[in-house]
Amino acid sequence: MSTQFDAIIIGAGQAGPSLAGKLTQAGRKVAMIERKLFGGTCVNTGCIPTKTLVASAYVAQKARIAANYGVVIGGPVSVDMKAVKARKDEISGKSRTGVEGWLRGMQNCTVYHDHAYFESAHEIRVGNEILTAEQIFLNVGGRAVIPDLPGVNTVPYLTNVSILELDTLPRHLVIVGGSYIGLEFAQIYRRFGSEVTVIEKGPRLVQHEDEDVSATMKSFLEKEGIRIRLDAECIHLEAHGKDVAVGVDCKSDASASVGSHVLLAVGRRPNTDDLGLERASVERDAQGFIVVDDQLRTSVPGMWALGDCNGKGGFTHTSYNDFEIVAANLLANDPRRVSDRIPAYALYTDPPLGRAGMTEKAVRQSGKPALIGTRPMTKVGRAVEKGETEGFMKILVDAETKQILGASILGTGGDEAIHCILDIMYAHAPYTTLQRAVHIHPTVSELIPTVLGELNPLT
Ligand SMILES: Cc1cc2nc3c(=O)[nH]c(=O)nc-3n(C[C@H](O)[C@H](O)[C@H](O)COP(=O)(O)OP(=O)(O)OC[C@H]3O[C@@H](n4cnc5c(N)ncnc54)[C@H](O)[C@@H]3O)c2cc1C
Repeated sequence: MSTQFDAIIIGAGQAGPSLAGKLTQAGRKVAMIERKLFGGTCVNTGCIPTKTLVASAYVAQKARIAANYGVVIGGPVSVDMKAVKARKDEISGKSRTGVEGWLRGMQNCTVYHDHAYFESAHEIRVGNEILTAEQIFLNVGGRAVIPDLPGVNTVPYLTNVSILELDTLPRHLVIVGGSYIGLEFAQIYRRFGSEVTVIEKGPRLVQHEDEDVSATMKSFLEKEGIRIRLDAECIHLEAHGKDVAVGVDCKSDASASVGSHVLLAVGRRPNTDDLGLERASVERDAQGFIVVDDQLRTSVPGMWALGDCNGKGGFTHTSYNDFEIVAANLLANDPRRVSDRIPAYALYTDPPLGRAGMTEKAVRQSGKPALIGTRPMTKVGRAVEKGETEGFMKILVDAETKQILGASILGTGGDEAIHCILDIMYAHAPYTTLQRAVHIHPTVSELIPTVLGELNPLT
């Protein structure tokens, strides 16, 4: 016996629930299968909980330097980790129950709270039931990579999931991985009061970014007392009493970092190895990402893959945009494509990094004749007034078409200010349009036209 639907969606992450909404509105009978937490990574173990912690850490830091602003705190600043966690749980929990309630109340949508497993390309097993549908949508997301480091299985370690369950302060948090997730947690816990060491095997932090971004980030994190160890050639772990020693070199005896807690933050892998995709003959690449075309169709007719599992994005907004692309193609005869998307994201250190389009390195490698404009945040009035002058902004322009190729705003408000650049890129308008815009004073964005008025050839 099987139950037939028009569409089956596996995973209630950032694309699945909205797609269920659109499909049911269009009169389709939909099955939504979620094995664990409604809302997926972003809501439960990613963006939302981490950004609540970023907010708590920001307040702690400001309280610590309150005297710089003429504000009297009158005693040492400490953090109540139970209260921090309770705040995080409440915000994340409201979002999760909101998603679940929305799906369960959706007409024409049947919610299954179990693991989905393929029996064949259009048959899915959920518990003891078999569901069938002409259209299958995969929104199964990803999880933390557990690197095959010597000793990793002999010691306790944290991932982005388990670190969010802590309600006490680690004495010394050692973070393996100096990229986006690792650096957010590094600054959060340093500001909460932990000793923090970041161990990165590469020669610099956030290696996908330009060198000036990596260097500036290293500098402001070190100023807060975070220890950063780069070029860690042979990272290995071993028990050290109740602590864990993370060694960084197998040849010389460079001293190990001994932590009360170790967080592994070395990347993400797709959840495509445990749902029987081989029974459906779905093509995957060498890293396990589901291979899709520009409109997110998999190699199997009638099957689409959205979000982190297709390797095309890795962010909440890209997963949601995947939903928009699939819905537009299927329901609105609108041929939206992944290649319409401009890469954009933020890294939520303080100050944050807002990014759009190409890095300077990528522009140089492309060989395009280009113009560049930069400005340190020390020359941005709003940053000076806020006492947040770390960082800089940098914009790259195609010298021939006058279109903006990319930008990095590493500075206060950079995660918001980047959007005026992103929007002009989506409009395919020349940079001069933005250069002539009159922005509000005092803001970080008001200096973007100024930077564009002072471009120099990229030599
Ligand atoms: C610490 C951290 C911080 C982050 N911060 C940001 C940020 O600030 N901004 C940002 O844009 N992105 C951020 N991200 C990335 C973001 O969380 C993800 O890109 C986003 O959640 C991906 O959404 P998704 O829809 O692809 O999958 P997910 O949100 O991962 O959802 C997939 C769902 O599928 C379910 N599932 C998987 N397999 C099965 C199965 N076989 N049967 C049934 N259900 C299944 C899972 O339980 C899960 O609920 C962060 C990630 C992490 C880890």
